[in-house]
Amino acid sequence: MTKKNLKSLSLLELQDFLASLGMKKYRSNQVYQWLYQKGAVSFDEMTNLSKEERAALNEKAYISSLILVKRQAASDGTEKYLFGLEDGNRIESVLIPDEDRLTLCISTQVGCAMDCKFCLTGKGGLKRNLEGHEIVDQVIAVRKLLSNPPLPPPSPPCQGGEKGEVRGDTGGLRITNIVLMGMGEPLSNYDNTIAALKILLDEKALNFSNRKVTLSTAGLIPQMEMLGKEGITVNLAISLNATTDDVRNKIMPINKKYPIKELVAACKKFPLPKRRRITFEYVMLKDINDTKEDGERLCKLLKGIRCKVNLIPFNEYSGSDFKRPDDETVEKFREILMGHHLMAITRKSKGAEILAACGQLRGSN
Ligand code: SF4
Repeated sequence: MTKKNLKSLSLLELQDFLASLGMKKYRSNQVYQWLYQKGAVSFDEMTNLSKEERAALNEKAYISSLILVKRQAASDGTEKYLFGLEDGNRIESVLIPDEDRLTLCISTQVGCAMDCKFCLTGKGGLKRNLEGHEIVDQVIAVRKLLSNPPLPPPSPPCQGGEKGEVRGDTGGLRITNIVLMGMGEPLSNYDNTIAALKILLDEKALNFSNRKVTLSTAGLIPQMEMLGKEGITVNLAISLNATTDDVRNKIMPINKKYPIKELVAACKKFPLPKRRRITFEYVMLKDINDTKEDGERLCKLLKGIRCKVNLIPFNEYSGSDFKRPDDETVEKFREILMGHHLMAITRKSKGAEILAACGQLRGSN
């Protein structure tokens, strides 16, 4: 009989499974806490269970965890983790320190089918969806690595007590924010992404505030509508990157299915909680989407949406067809948006030297 991975179960399903092994209902809360809050990797660690209960669990179940294949650090403090999955596939997660935040960017698929032309992940196509527990396990694995950080600090930002360092109770670094912006399109792996979000937000599990979790999508409109009805109020980011269908069709093929006008209309309808904004990500590509006219069009498109714009100057990599605009062009573009009272931030490129920046994840060495 194949063993059951306990992390593939919701709390209710866990209750039923433990009951089938003759365990009392209250045990499910204890086991759940071991899995997510204490990050247990074996039943022998669960010292508040009886020996017999642990033996029964060992016989019928197991606890999944990711295998760390490679850990790389960039000089700006960004770290990239390459993880191995049970079937031998590989995914990447990126940890980004920034002032008082420590953000973990996690993957939702092995590869990606969206084929955005500026993205290295998209070049390899989609291998498969991640299971909910494989999405969550990235957070658990990195949290564990941070409480026992084995890497020597690469540069001042990681030195003890520096600004930008967020320390947890154990003295290790603590993840403050989660972004679903790694490999894959989260909304095309809808059910597993929702299952993972529930665990991330559950106060009995990983207990992240919904304000600290951001889901980024290339604009899958039907799934955005489903998410709006789900009652899971994480932050929403839209990877927009163009102001005309002509350009967006060329750089993001998904636009042929869900063109800009329909996408913007879906954003206007999205049930935003009070005081929240939708984030529009705009990867700036030299001579493609960085003109004054683009800036003006962007302002018109986003009029009436409570939002902010993240300008991300393209991170060049060897073999890429696109170039990064110069700083002056980026700043002029930002000024156009600010001039129309749009909140606009230019994102500093982090981790580019280890291919950990936006759109650079491949899931390989
Ligand atoms: S940018 Fe995101 S959605 Fe587009 S190919 Fe890359 S991973 Fe997929």
